[in-house]
Amino acid sequence: MSERIIPLLDQRHQGLAMKVPTNPMTGDGVLRDQRHRPLHDLRISVTDRCNFRCNYCMPKEVFDSHYTYLPHSDLLSFEEITRVARVFVGLGVRKLRLTGGEPLLRKNLEVLIEQLSALKTPQGKPLDLTLTTNGSLLKRKAQDLRRAGLQRVTVSLDGIDDAVFRAMNDVDFPVADVLDGIEAARAAGLGLDAHGRFSGLKINMVVKRTTNLDQILPMARHFRGSGMTLRFIEYMDVGTTNGWRMDDVLPSAEVIRLLQTEFALVPLEPSAPGETAQRWGYADTQGRHDPALGEVGVISSVTQAFCHDCNRARLSTEGKLYLCLFAGQGHDLRGLLRQDASDEQLAAAIGQVWQQRDDRYSELRGQQTPGQPAPRRVEMSYIGG
Ligand code: SAM
Ligand code: SF4
Ligand code: SF4
Repeated sequence: MSERIIPLLDQRHQGLAMKVPTNPMTGDGVLRDQRHRPLHDLRISVTDRCNFRCNYCMPKEVFDSHYTYLPHSDLLSFEEITRVARVFVGLGVRKLRLTGGEPLLRKNLEVLIEQLSALKTPQGKPLDLTLTTNGSLLKRKAQDLRRAGLQRVTVSLDGIDDAVFRAMNDVDFPVADVLDGIEAARAAGLGLDAHGRFSGLKINMVVKRTTNLDQILPMARHFRGSGMTLRFIEYMDVGTTNGWRMDDVLPSAEVIRLLQTEFALVPLEPSAPGETAQRWGYADTQGRHDPALGEVGVISSVTQAFCHDCNRARLSTEGKLYLCLFAGQGHDLRGLLRQDASDEQLAAAIGQVWQQRDDRYSELRGQQTPGQPAPRRVEMSYIGG
């Protein structure tokens, strides 16, 4: 039986107006939301288009030739994105991630990367700047991205078997081309750490029980010892078009159990506060983590919600600020930008929105009343991962 397609609810044109508060931020100078979570990461979507049709994200049946993407005039310009990012840095953001759609489809992305990599924290330190890509254009672009100042990259790859991968991207894209892209990123020095390991080169695999469960062990075998980190992501109920069912979610605990049938693993501490992945290291014959063998991670967005320290804000392609991946509406930052608001006014307005944030969708997921319609949510391809 084919999966049921839920009609697309288009949330893109409804934004909450943002206002400049008359009494800006108070407190100890650290911006915190209603649950005392600071603002640390900003994910910036640079396009809502993609050349893949992963059925958990942009199913072909919805994102077909009739689908209307945002017109170019609606998108934030590179100058607007950089200005907004600078304001966010002033409010505590230390990590910027470019995403999409497929970010490498945005023309001249290197120019934006050059601008963002020049930003500094108030202490004069560089920011952590990274990008998530499906890897299809990486072979062509890795050198230019590195030259422009990109430090790290995350490549999404849902299988190492060509037939499985082609079916998952649903545009018959060969796995060999993504692997070439990963090699090009490595050769360009993306993700290289001070110890000569490619710890900033991450590979993300979304696991759908019915589709690519059999790829978990082959993927681990392929990347073990490469210096890259492989992370398994639970399939999430983002958007309203992917026909998500709990039965399709493979809990991370099962992923770890499966990996342990072949590899000795030791748990590792989180590398940063608010880190979404639980880390496991490959062990040596004495049972100690061997950094040369590398690590794996699991992101349990469904079975072990991590809303309690979620410190991420998201900026959509046309400048709406979203406080949660599952939010129904965004705050219209572009409106304010284009009304000639000053940086101070932008900061005060963003600060106020963050201070009022109370989102924790994943923690509440299980409390939805059966039979009630699912809340309205934006699509992952529009807001980015
Ligand atoms: N196109 C780029 C890519 O695929 O890496 C960037 C955008 S994509 C929306 C960002 C991340 O979201 C990818 O790693 C993708 O696998 C993940 N993603 C998309 N839909 C998802 C879902 N339903 N559940 C879990 N992860 C999802
Ligand atoms: Fe495109 Fe990334 Fe979504 Fe796949 S996950 S359809 S590559 S935006
Ligand atoms: Fe953050 Fe929302 Fe995800 Fe919770 S559900 S971790 S608040 S994005």
